[in-house]
Amino acid sequence: MAIATLVVSLVMSSLTFWAVNSIQQDAQINDTRFGRDLGLLLASNVTPLIAEDKLTEVAQFSGRFFHSTSSVRYIIYANEEGHIFFGIPFSQDEVKNSLTIQRKLELPEDYNPEVNNPVVRQHLTPDGKVTDVFVPLSLKNQYLGVLAIGINPNPTVVASSNLTRDVTIAVFISIWAMVILGGVFNALTITQPIKELLLGVKNIATGNFKQRIDLPLGGELGELILSFNDMAERLEKFEEQNIEELTAEKAKLETLVSTIADGAILLDSQLKLILVNPTARRMFKWEETHIIGENFLEYLPPEVTEQLQQPLTHISQEEQTKEEKEHHNILPSRGEFIISLNPPNQNTFRVLLTQVLDQNRENIKGIVITVQDITKEVELNEAKSQFISNVSHELRTPLFNIKSFIETLFEYGDDLTEAEKLEFLQTANHETDRLTRLVNDVLDLSRLESSRNYEFTPLDLAQPIEQTLRTYQLNAKDKNIELIQDIQPSLPPIWGHYDLLLQVFTNLVGNALKFTLEKGTVTIKAYAVKANPENPQEYSHVRVEITDTGIGIAPEDQEAIFDRFFRVENRVHTLEGTGLGLSIVKNIIDKHNTRIHLVSEEGVGTTFWFDLQIYNVA
Ligand code: ADP
Repeated sequence: MAIATLVVSLVMSSLTFWAVNSIQQDAQINDTRFGRDLGLLLASNVTPLIAEDKLTEVAQFSGRFFHSTSSVRYIIYANEEGHIFFGIPFSQDEVKNSLTIQRKLELPEDYNPEVNNPVVRQHLTPDGKVTDVFVPLSLKNQYLGVLAIGINPNPTVVASSNLTRDVTIAVFISIWAMVILGGVFNALTITQPIKELLLGVKNIATGNFKQRIDLPLGGELGELILSFNDMAERLEKFEEQNIEELTAEKAKLETLVSTIADGAILLDSQLKLILVNPTARRMFKWEETHIIGENFLEYLPPEVTEQLQQPLTHISQEEQTKEEKEHHNILPSRGEFIISLNPPNQNTFRVLLTQVLDQNRENIKGIVITVQDITKEVELNEAKSQFISNVSHELRTPLFNIKSFIETLFEYGDDLTEAEKLEFLQTANHETDRLTRLVNDVLDLSRLESSRNYEFTPLDLAQPIEQTLRTYQLNAKDKNIELIQDIQPSLPPIWGHYDLLLQVFTNLVGNALKFTLEKGTVTIKAYAVKANPENPQEYSHVRVEITDTGIGIAPEDQEAIFDRFFRVENRVHTLEGTGLGLSIVKNIIDKHNTRIHLVSEEGVGTTFWFDLQIYNVA
């Protein structure tokens, strides 16, 4: 801008300068011509007078000439040697003096008295350029001297050139003033808003959507600012909405992660903990420890660290190979490990390591570790294989017995007495019963576990209880155990399934007899529980208790005995059983929408109890 202004102002100035210059040159030419003519005119008039030495007349004539025009500045006469003998406006005395002191006229170098041409030159005075004309005075080829006449500068030319110069300066100054004023105006009305807009756009680009521009401007700039503010507002709202959605999503995910049954751990690529869900904290006993930001490996039990250190380091550093990237193999690396903790907490975990890749699936951002507590699964599997070995064992013994007795009967039947034959057959029958029992248990359980619906009816509990006790009467007598029946008179009917409840009593009383030593007692008790102590007729449910004075169940086994295939004596292999009885009981009680409980003390005895819903006629 400044450069453009400078160029324009300089061009203008030089144009004006050139104009003034040409005017002055014209004036100079005019002055020269005028002076030359004036000089020649004066010379032609005075030459004869000088030739005749009539100096007074020369002076008079020159005086008249000088005074008749304002253009002549001076008139000087010098003789052939160049000595001044007369000059106007110098006084006569001065002339005399000058004559006496013999002042000499300074002639220009190119002045030649031989040539009859006047010489013109100019010199500068405070009033302008004065034209000096030197005219040789010669008459009939005789050189008499020189006439020097000075012509004043043309006053109108001087005035007009002065005016032009002033106008030029004024133009120059006004151009600059206009440019400066324009610049200031520009800065106030355009540059400032544009600067603000630029700043605003930069802020928006960096994500600061709170940016607004507050400038009271009209016109297109005003509209631009309005649109900008509108845009910023929309972006801000959009961002708020986005943040809300993201927060909601995050909350959902966090809730999900915190509630899942598996342990979830998130590590960064440096193996530092970023997120640990409550399940994982429980699994590794981190409830009280501040572990976020710490190195994962340092907080694990040593046996886990030992197993995970290498795969974790490997997975956190493993980059995808070039070929994998080229073939868009975007699956992150994974690893699966089964880790058993050392005693006292003999849990078994399945640990899954998965890489977390960035958006382009190129760099590793972290590792997700999923931990599943598979202790139960492992135990169950163990129990299952134990069961299979038990069942095989249980099946093999009766089958072998049956086969050998039948073979003996078949081959040596003729040699046997009737009594022996009967005994053999009885043994085979007994063994078949054992087989049937085992197979029935397995069948019962699988039937119960399939979601079959059983039809419930109102029942008088005394009936299945009495039937059970009848079944075990002989057995109890054999073992010298007292069987006690304690049923509340006029027990309200319950809502249930006869055959299923009969099986519950059979299994529980059977177990009680099995695990009670001689002279012990097994009691089966049933009574109605009052819902409201003030109204003795109002019952909420019927409670059944089967109590024995047997060997009891160790506290650590009390929960597990309801699991399928679990037998305390699996470890000792003594009494016969399938480990399915209590599982069947639990399943049946579940089908009655209630729960089975147990209270037991080793060496004292065990009580199993459960409640049953009363059948309401209404
Ligand atoms: P089983 O067919 O072997 O009896 P159950 O499921 O009925 O299988 O019982 C599981 C285990 O629970 C038994 O092996 C036994 O160790 C224990 N148990 C069940 N009832 C009693 C009881 N009344 N007293 C002591 N132990 C018991």
